[in-house]
Amino acid sequence: MFKQITIIGFGLIGSSLARAIKRHKLADRIVCADQSREVCEKVKSLGLADEIFTDLAKSVKDSDLVVLCVPVGAMQSVAEKIAPALSAGAIVTDVGSVKTSVMKTLQLKIPAKVHIVGGHPIAGTEHSGPEAGFAELFIGRWCILTPMQHTELRVVEKLTKLWEACGSNIEIMDPEHHDLVLGITSHLPHLIAYTIVGTATDMEEDLKGEVIKFSASGFRDFTRIASSDPVMWRDVFLNNKEAVLEILQRFTEDLTAMQKAIRKGDGDYLYQTFKETRDIRKAIIEAGQATYAYPTKSQEAVVPEVVPPAASDPARQR
Ligand code: NAP
Repeated sequence: MFKQITIIGFGLIGSSLARAIKRHKLADRIVCADQSREVCEKVKSLGLADEIFTDLAKSVKDSDLVVLCVPVGAMQSVAEKIAPALSAGAIVTDVGSVKTSVMKTLQLKIPAKVHIVGGHPIAGTEHSGPEAGFAELFIGRWCILTPMQHTELRVVEKLTKLWEACGSNIEIMDPEHHDLVLGITSHLPHLIAYTIVGTATDMEEDLKGEVIKFSASGFRDFTRIASSDPVMWRDVFLNNKEAVLEILQRFTEDLTAMQKAIRKGDGDYLYQTFKETRDIRKAIIEAGQATYAYPTKSQEAVVPEVVPPAASDPARQR
């Protein structure tokens, strides 16, 4: 499908993509680039790439596809470094969790002779680094592509085929819409998890001990989400500011309504709200987005970026 694919940023997503590309023979050569020497050593020992660079410009030479798998806040510096070395007709894509800011950066920094298509696989775990990746990560998960208005259809189709071969379903969106949708399905839940776990962190020692002891009653699932990579999530909130603030405003209003219902003893309101949320869970299960079917080497359930699994979910039971 491709002669040479360079993956820049060989962490969870980059290494999972490399594994899937290798397994399905989607490129003649895979080139790894990462700023971390430690990561490069690990990639070498895992045998995940044909060539490994810490020099990003050298890594993209002669590649027909370059995939940026670095945190959103690092996209600009990476784009600046690789821009002069990119081949005419090459495709640059990314996997960043925010799309509007990344698309603006790429449009500004990547030369016009190169095709740009944004991307975001809606798949992931709370783990980081090349050892955390696995080839099955993208199976049955959506991958959202955000092409530029003038991107040629054949380029979008080529990228679609790559992600489909990795097991993903494709949806095309404009970047602003992507950021709003992911703001509610992914960014807000992470913000809530970070906040709840942060609240527990600030509690007095004896109470904190009991929170940990009795965590199975719901708190545990929040701690898993709140253990996600701090750099990645800092960058998500700094780069999807407007959408997150808008959704947070609506959430705050709903929370206040809930507070009011509890204070007034409005059981009907509480029941109706909880009933409706149950229906959403049912719809997610019916859409096949609630299963965590692919065990990692450690046999831990694999959890996508988006939804915390219910404690009763069979795949969560090891
Ligand atoms: P990760 O496991 O932390 O890997 C990122 C890698 O990029 C690290 O090896 C990091 O090196 C390297 N890196 C950072 N800045 C760099 C730079 N300027 N030049 C070269 N390499 C650099 O992160 P990840 O979870 O794979 O996330 C990568 C991207 O995927 C992010 O944009 C994220 O928003 C997106 N994404 C994540 C998930 C998820 O669930 N994790 C899901 C979908 C999309 P250091 O270790 O030295 O920093």
